[in-house]
Amino acid sequence: MELYNLKHPSQVVSFTEAVKLGLGKDRGLFFPKSIPTLDNLESLLALPFVERSQKVIGAWLAPELGQETVDRLVEKAFNFELPLVQATQNLYSLELFHGPTLAFKDFGARFMAQCLNELANEDKINILTATSGDTGAAVADAFYGLDNINVVVLYPKGKISILQEKMFTTLGDNIHTVAVNADFDACQTLVKQSFEDSDIRDGLHLNSANSINISRLLAQICYYFEAVAQYKQQHNDDPVIAVPSGNFGNLTAGLFAKAMGLPVKRFVAATNSNDTVPRYLDNGQWSPHLTVATMSNAMDVAEPSNWPRVEAIVKAMNWSLTDIMGVGVSEADTADSVKSLHQQGYLSEPHAAIAAFALTQTMQTGEKGIFLGTAHPAKFNEVVESVLDLHLPLPQALENVVPKRILSAELAADFNTLKAHLFSVLDD
Ligand SMILES: *Cc1c(COP(=O)(O)O)cnc(C)c1O
Repeated sequence: MELYNLKHPSQVVSFTEAVKLGLGKDRGLFFPKSIPTLDNLESLLALPFVERSQKVIGAWLAPELGQETVDRLVEKAFNFELPLVQATQNLYSLELFHGPTLAFKDFGARFMAQCLNELANEDKINILTATSGDTGAAVADAFYGLDNINVVVLYPKGKISILQEKMFTTLGDNIHTVAVNADFDACQTLVKQSFEDSDIRDGLHLNSANSINISRLLAQICYYFEAVAQYKQQHNDDPVIAVPSGNFGNLTAGLFAKAMGLPVKRFVAATNSNDTVPRYLDNGQWSPHLTVATMSNAMDVAEPSNWPRVEAIVKAMNWSLTDIMGVGVSEADTADSVKSLHQQGYLSEPHAAIAAFALTQTMQTGEKGIFLGTAHPAKFNEVVESVLDLHLPLPQALENVVPKRILSAELAADFNTLKAHLFSVLDD
C-alpha cells in the first residue's frame, strides 16, 4: 500500500513506514494513493465479521504484508462482538463498545498495536498520543506490557470523567500518563509540536496512536461493512449512517468503506456544540471557535485533525461535500435524545444519542438509519444517571479500576515542560 503526504505529495511511503511515522513532513496526513474496491459484495457481506475483515483489510495490505499476516493480525485484534441493535422503529445502533475498554476505539487501537508489534522488529518505539477520553484507555490497554513499546498519553485535566481517567492512568509499567492543565485541542497541539521538534524526532523516534495513524482507520472500515451486513439481513434498502464525530477519524473510515463499494445511502456527520464541520458544510467557512466542554466530551474537538482526509476522499471519488450532512447538536437536544431513546426502550449515552438525534432531524419518510454506539452507557454513567434519573450498575471492566490509584504526572500546557518530561520518561 502506497500513501502520500497530503501536504507534500512527493513524500510517498509504504504502509509499514506510515504506521511507524504516524504523520508525514510538516504534520501532513498520509493518504492512500489509490483506494481498492471489492467486488462480489453480496458474498462478502455474507461472511462472518473476522473473515470478512480479513478480506477488507487484505485489499489494502495483502500486497505489502501478505494475506497470512493480515489474517493473523485481524484475528488477534478483533475478538469481541458488535451487534446491530434495533433502538426505535426506524433507528438501529451498531454497538461498538463490547471490547476491553468499552468504546469503539478498541478496534483501531488493538489493530494498531498488532501492526506495530509485527512491523517494529527490534526497534524501540515510543508512542505519544493525546486523548479526549476513550483513546487513552483503548491505546493503553492495547499496548500495555508489549516489549519495546513505550506509551505516553496526554489528556486534559478535569475534562474527562474520573472513571475514564482511571481506565488508563492506573496501569503503570510501559504506560506513562500526563494530565495537562488545558483542553483537548491544546493536548493535540502539544503532540503535533513534539512531532515537529528535531531533538525529539531524532532522540526519541516518536510515533502517534491518534486517529491520524492510518492503521486505526483501516481497522474502523471493517465495522461499517458489519453494520450493513447485519442491516441487509432484514432490509433490502441501503441505510443512512450517522457518525458521532470529534476528530473525524470515524467518518473518514466510513467514507473509505463507501469508496470500496459498501452501499450506504448517505453519511451524517453529527457533532456536539463543537460544530466546526456542520457550520463549514453549511456555509463553506472554516472557522473553528474555542473548544467548549460538553457532556459528550470525547467529541469536544474544535479543530478535527482528520478533516483533510475527508476532503481528499471526496475529491478522489468525485463526490461532493454536499453529500455529507452535518448536524451540530446542543446540550439540551443531547439530553432529550438520551431520554427519548430510553422511553423507546434503548439505553444510550450522549455520543450515540447525538448521532441518533441527527438522524431523526435529517431522515426522510421511509428511510432507516444506523447510528454508531461509540461508548458503553456506563462509561458516561454520571451524565446518563442524571439525565434519566436512574442508577446504572458498573460493568466489571469499570468496577475493577475504581479502587486503583491515578499515576499521572501533571503538567502545564507548555511545550518545553513536556519536552523535558518526555526525555525523562522515555530516554534510557
Ligand atoms: C473518539 C470518540 C468519538 C469521536 O470519534 P472521532 O473518530 O474522533 O470522530 C465519538 N464517541 C466516542 C465515545 C469517542 O470515544
